[in-house]
Amino acid sequence: MKTVSILGATGSVGTSTLDIVERHPDLYRVVALTAAANVEALARAALRTRASLAVISDESRYAELRSLLSGSGCRAASGPEGLREAAADEAEWVMAAIVGCAGLEPVMAAVSAGRTVALANKEALVTAGALMTDAAAQSGAIILPVDSEHNAIFQCLGSRNCDNVRRLVLTASGGPFRTWTASEMANATPEQAVAHPNWTMGAKISVDSATMMNKGLELIEAHHLFGLPSAQIDILVHPQSVVHSMVEYVDGSVLAQMGSPDMRIPIAHTLAYPKRVPSGAERLDLTRTSNLAFETPDQERFPALRLAREALEAEGSAPIVLNAANEVAVAAFLGRKIRFGEIVAMAETALAASSSAAPTSIADVIAIDGEVRRNAQSHLAGAAA
Ligand code: NAD
Ligand code: MG
Repeated sequence: MKTVSILGATGSVGTSTLDIVERHPDLYRVVALTAAANVEALARAALRTRASLAVISDESRYAELRSLLSGSGCRAASGPEGLREAAADEAEWVMAAIVGCAGLEPVMAAVSAGRTVALANKEALVTAGALMTDAAAQSGAIILPVDSEHNAIFQCLGSRNCDNVRRLVLTASGGPFRTWTASEMANATPEQAVAHPNWTMGAKISVDSATMMNKGLELIEAHHLFGLPSAQIDILVHPQSVVHSMVEYVDGSVLAQMGSPDMRIPIAHTLAYPKRVPSGAERLDLTRTSNLAFETPDQERFPALRLAREALEAEGSAPIVLNAANEVAVAAFLGRKIRFGEIVAMAETALAASSSAAPTSIADVIAIDGEVRRNAQSHLAGAAA
């Protein structure tokens, strides 16, 4: 039996993970589950899977969680301390599926404890970068990429070693606004932005897909996972989301990983790794898919791609700044405080104003992230006044 914990168990990736785990009760036992504020969903999942620990980040919901779990044998905990405990407790395999930089400390707790970390929480790696991969090298933690593109590359490489690789090709669906003009996009609504053509995901990553900031963050994520420079990581728009990414070798061979667009496939790959288990995903039937198309991304309409590349090449704190400003901007857009076209503009303004050196610790990362958030918030408050 493999013991598993899921950070962010009530979200899109978290519930897909639970779905696979619960298909294989003979293989996996749940240790800990966490959620931000949805106590009912957390308690239901904890009771159903007989988890031994359930953690709610929002401390004001702790009493409610404890009462929902009373008599079940599942312990309730809350706050950052509870999250750290869930991440570093006894589970061999930890799914990191919290959204945003908020997941960084729990991911680092799992990495430092030497766990196998299935990493969906790309913002944690984008912001911590080498601090995370170095910590993993030190503790012996294994980081397995869950993001479908990075998981595809990992499968094509058979490892995270890029010897003899000419370039990595990240595919992108292009999001819901792939064919929209810039002026149509400028005033797109949150409902339009989260209506992704191929994938069902949480609100934040759905908006990131619409601006293509998601692909920008994935470029930085790929650099840290596979150690190649920006110049060897390309992005190709592929609207059908059948080819999840590719690896081109020096001899001209190109390996691609394909499958239906269902996150249970990459999640199951990391869960069973190096074995395989059925994931519940629909099988790919190429006779029923439309022709596969590939096109160069339009950096004019999707400036987030250029910004992310600049942030990666600038190194230092630029990726932290880009990510923090984007998180504040996406939340403001979802709260109808700014227009769609202002999201990436806010990230660009923050990036232009930033100058700090590379972080030397996770505390540094969190301090820089906090400062950018405060500045972005006051920029928003100023704009609203
Ligand atoms: P989601 O919003 O559906 O779920 C997020 C989870 O994290 C929830 O359980 C929520 O309770 C918890 N959470 C949110 N804020 C928190 C906080 N401040 N502290 C503690 N817990 C918090 O998000 P998602 O779509 O499942 O995405 C999760 C992560 O996986 C993101 O980093 C995303 O980029 C990445 N990812 C998602 C997909 C996808 O298909 N959804 C694909 C690839 C990568
Ligand atoms: Mg992805």
